[in-house]
Amino acid sequence: MSEFKPDPSCADPQSEGLLPVHDALARIQSSVSVISGFHKVALRSALEQILAEDITATFDVPPHPNSAMDGYAFNSADLQELSFPLHCVGESFAGRPFHGQIQSGECIRIMTGAKMPAGCDLVVMQETTEREKDTVTIHGQHKAGQNVRAAGEDMQAGESLLKCGRRLNAADLGLLASMGIGEVNVRRPLRVAFFSTGDELKSIGQPLSEGDIYDSNRYTLFAMLKKLGIDMVDMGVVPDDPQTLREAFITAAENADAVITSGGVSVGEADYVKAILGELGQINFWKMAMKPGRPLAFGNLQNKPFFGLPGNPVSVMVTFLQFVRPALLKMAGEDPLQPTLTHTAIAGRRIRKRPGRFEYQRGALSVVDGQLSVTPTGDQGSGILSSMSRANCFILLDDDCDGIPEGGEVQVQPFAGLF
Ligand code: AMP
Ligand code: MG
Repeated sequence: MSEFKPDPSCADPQSEGLLPVHDALARIQSSVSVISGFHKVALRSALEQILAEDITATFDVPPHPNSAMDGYAFNSADLQELSFPLHCVGESFAGRPFHGQIQSGECIRIMTGAKMPAGCDLVVMQETTEREKDTVTIHGQHKAGQNVRAAGEDMQAGESLLKCGRRLNAADLGLLASMGIGEVNVRRPLRVAFFSTGDELKSIGQPLSEGDIYDSNRYTLFAMLKKLGIDMVDMGVVPDDPQTLREAFITAAENADAVITSGGVSVGEADYVKAILGELGQINFWKMAMKPGRPLAFGNLQNKPFFGLPGNPVSVMVTFLQFVRPALLKMAGEDPLQPTLTHTAIAGRRIRKRPGRFEYQRGALSVVDGQLSVTPTGDQGSGILSSMSRANCFILLDDDCDGIPEGGEVQVQPFAGLF
């Protein structure tokens, strides 16, 4: 029996014992559950909220057959006799229907959206007719039912329209309005507490002393949480002091459904997050096989999910979007319409990567000669927020990928809709 030995490679020597990203995502997803609570809101306020009830059509839309064109309505039995002109005996406007009954040889002037008069079953568009006083000559070939919209062709009484868990968009608001529904039950927003940790961090408005930087993570987190309609508790900057951190963790868990922190999860002297969480709750500390964003603390703090993100600004965004966002969406009760979309693009230039870890590089996606083309937006370091700001997509590079040549195919995940 020969003993298997892996090929010698230039794989990242630190990749051993790292948790694959798909496993981390699956573990997080399976350990969070939907929060309870809903309330009734007016239709406009329901935009971007998550529906907490199933909506069924109570009547047909449109409620009556109506014209899809401006023209003339008559009975298809008269089609055989069209060498004779028709006599126009009335008008049907949208919202002002014709109430009489037409006879053979007669027609009604009709407008788009107007109710079909009794006895009429087709509409001939105005452009294929000639009118002389009340005499209308019809040209061309026509058939029964043409240019008539059937009652209920959009929605039928009893039909399921929207399901519980749906995040309501513009089309959904229109659908509900078509049903005359002015209020709906939506889930209560998920409440998330977050803070930054680090002695070097200053909030905007404070002067920077030597060695200080401004806290940017609370702003990227604010923006990404806002996109999900989350009720936020911004707890500011907490210094690298065990007792202050302990108190902040407890306050956060008491006031929110989930807690997010950034920084302090590395192995440095002042990285207390992991130890304190171990003390106050249950914590998994993962070194993930990804770049950027290797360390992630995930666990429970007073039965609330806790996400301890790394400190570097790009790592915060990547770990939030890839791991925290799906978990928060599940907790908020959203039934995703579709999985996060990825596309195949052509590398506009060579993309460098070493095998071993899954990489989320930042790229600029554009259409070149009718094809999606992507190029990395410069320095890919985990602290280089400017390359994230210049990007419009993630370039997704599998663990074992060892780079993509110029012109090679690569998967991309557009930022559109993410933040
Ligand atoms: P840490 O994980 O705390 O060791 O932080 C890693 C790096 O991210 C350090 O260079 C920190 O200064 C930086 N960093 C941590 N938190 C923030 C923040 N809120 N805003 C900007 N940079 C940060
Ligand atoms: Mg720190």
